[in-house]
Amino acid sequence: MSTVHSGHLTKRAVRLLELCEAEGFDNIGDLLEASIYDSVCPAICMECGCTAEMEPDQRAGFCEQCGQNKVVSCLSAIHDRRSTTPLIFDWVYRVQRQSLETQMARGAEELVKSYLDRKNK
Ligand SMILES: [Zn+2]
Repeated sequence: MSTVHSGHLTKRAVRLLELCEAEGFDNIGDLLEASIYDSVCPAICMECGCTAEMEPDQRAGFCEQCGQNKVVSCLSAIHDRRSTTPLIFDWVYRVQRQSLETQMARGAEELVKSYLDRKNK
């Protein structure tokens, strides 16, 4: 069972993370690196989440589980996600950087504190 939480992610992003998890990779970069040298690569059904091995350029492979042609190779999924996700402008990054870093540091402190509290009980 997947431990990927969808939060604010698109279905495509969630499926990509689920595929990463199912294949035992910590992140999408590792999945990408392991997939680029083979004639087939990990793929996931965008409908039901079933995983398979497909050709690297596959975007509509047949799913054995749900019977739909919605299996997408990880390379296609990564490419499609990258090409359809807008980058943020540099000025947005510069304006928000300080407050986001402060927020991140506070979050990290809280996580460490809660870990230490649990560990010391
Ligand atoms: Zn399916």
